[in-house]
Amino acid sequence: MLLAHKIELRPTAQQADYLDRACGSRRHAFNQLLAHFSQEGVRWSKQAAHEKYKELRIEFPWYAEVSQRVTRNTVDDLHNAFTHFFRRVKNGNKAGYPRFKKRGLNDSFSLREKPKFGVHGRTLRIEKLKTRIKMREALRFTGTACQVTISKRAGKYFASILIDTQDYDPKAQEEESVGVDFGIRDLAVCSNGKTFAANQKLKLSLKRLGQKQRALSRKTKGSNRSAKAKRAVAKLHYRVSNQRLAVLHEVSDYLTANFRVITIEDLNVRGMTEGRPTRNRKLARAVNDAGFGMLRQFIEYKAVLRGCQVVVADRFFPSSKRCSVPGCGFLNDSLLLSVREWECPNCKTHHDRDHNASVNLDNYGRDTLQLDGVAQTLNPT
Ligand SMILES: [Zn+2]
Repeated sequence: MLLAHKIELRPTAQQADYLDRACGSRRHAFNQLLAHFSQEGVRWSKQAAHEKYKELRIEFPWYAEVSQRVTRNTVDDLHNAFTHFFRRVKNGNKAGYPRFKKRGLNDSFSLREKPKFGVHGRTLRIEKLKTRIKMREALRFTGTACQVTISKRAGKYFASILIDTQDYDPKAQEEESVGVDFGIRDLAVCSNGKTFAANQKLKLSLKRLGQKQRALSRKTKGSNRSAKAKRAVAKLHYRVSNQRLAVLHEVSDYLTANFRVITIEDLNVRGMTEGRPTRNRKLARAVNDAGFGMLRQFIEYKAVLRGCQVVVADRFFPSSKRCSVPGCGFLNDSLLLSVREWECPNCKTHHDRDHNASVNLDNYGRDTLQLDGVAQTLNPT
C-alpha cells in the first residue's frame, strides 16, 4: 500500500539555497518544454520531449548543479498534463491547456528514483547535496520510500514522502473485540484496561497558547512587537496541532492494529459543545481540544485499511449508567457526570465510570454483530 507523509523540513541556509535552485530548474525546464510544444506545428510526444530535454540540458548547463532528475522528471509531469488535457478535449469537457509555472506559486520538485534520495531517521538525503536536511519528525510508516516531492509554501519547505508500506495490511488482529470510552480526563479508556491519558504536553501547550494570544491582543497592531507575538502564536499553533495529531494517531493505531471489532460511542460532540455557552464553556473547550471527531475519522479510515470493523453505539445507549457485570445490567439512572466511581446497588461491584462504559460498549458491539451467537438482550427486565 502506498501512503504519503508530509513533513516540514528544517534546511540550513545552504540547503535552502539548493532547494530553491532545484525548484527554479524544475520550473525553467517545464516551461521550456511547454513553450516548445506549444509552438505551431510541433506535436507533443513523450519521445520528442525526451529529445528536446537532452538539448535543454546542454543549453542550460546549470541544470546539473542539482540532481538531474529534478529537470528530467518534468518530461513525465508534462506528459501527465498533456494526457489530462487530451482526455478532456476528447470527452468534450472544458479543456485546461497545461499552464506555465510561476515563481513563488506552488514551487516544488520531485525525485522518483530510490538512489536519488533517502530517509534516515529524521534526516533527508538528496542527490548532489552533501549534507542531510533535518526533518521536523520521523516517518510515521515503515517501508520503502519511493518518491519525494519537496514543496515551498510561505517560506517553509515540506517533503511529501511516498512510502510503500505494509503497516496497514490487513492481518490477524490479536484480540477479537474492544469497547472504547472517550473522555476528557482520559482521552480513551479501553475495555481491556488500557488507558490513554489526555496529553499533558498538549495541555501545557494550549495553556501557553492562551497566554500568547492574550499577549498578542495587547500589542499595538502593525508594530514590531505585534509581529513578533504573532509569530510566536503561529509557532505554538503548529506545535499544538502536531501534538494533537500524534496522540490521535497513537490511539487509532493501537485500536486498529490489535482488534477486529472496535465499538465506540456516537459522541454527540455538537450537542456537547453547543448551547449554554457560559456553563458549558470549559467542557466545550475540552471536547474540541480532545479532537474526538478527528479521532473517530482516524479510527474509521484505519479500520478500512486494516480490515477491522467499527461499531458505533446508539447515542442513547446508556454506556456509563449500566452495570457491566454479566447477568446484572442494573441501570443507575441517578449517576451524575461528576461521579468517577460508583458501586452497583444490585451486585455490589465497584465500577470505574469510564472502564465500565467501555465494557458496555464492547458488549454492545459483540451483540450487534452477534459474535457470541444469539444476540442477548441487554435489558435487565
Ligand atoms: Zn451490577
